[in-house]
Amino acid sequence: MDSITPYAIPENREISEVEWELIRAMISLENTIPLEDIDDYKVIGRCGCGSCPTIFIGHDGDFEKIGKSKGILIDAIGETKNGHSVFATFYLHEAEIIEFEINYYTGLGEYELPMPSSLNIAK
Ligand SMILES: [Zn+2]
Repeated sequence: MDSITPYAIPENREISEVEWELIRAMISLENTIPLEDIDDYKVIGRCGCGSCPTIFIGHDGDFEKIGKSKGILIDAIGETKNGHSVFATFYLHEAEIIEFEINYYTGLGEYELPMPSSLNIAK
């Protein structure tokens, strides 16, 4: 049987405190969207790989929008507490954030999140 990795796996939960901390830190880098615009967002999916911390955020019913358009709102780079470099990127669906991708330069055995204070705009 073929196993094809999906782009996203549906998930339905609140955004965690740690995730909010990162989201706020990302937004403060650019101040492009008011936080009030997304304060009722939830996690609507996770990365199809099933193991990295990339999440999809939005409202109920937004899952079908995932992967449809790929504008970038904020492209940042940060570090984990163990010194690993991490890309942190907000992707848009139309004008709304839908994907918060956390990506690594090198494959790590275990995924760690970047420290919010370490995030900077990627040059
Ligand atoms: Zn992944």
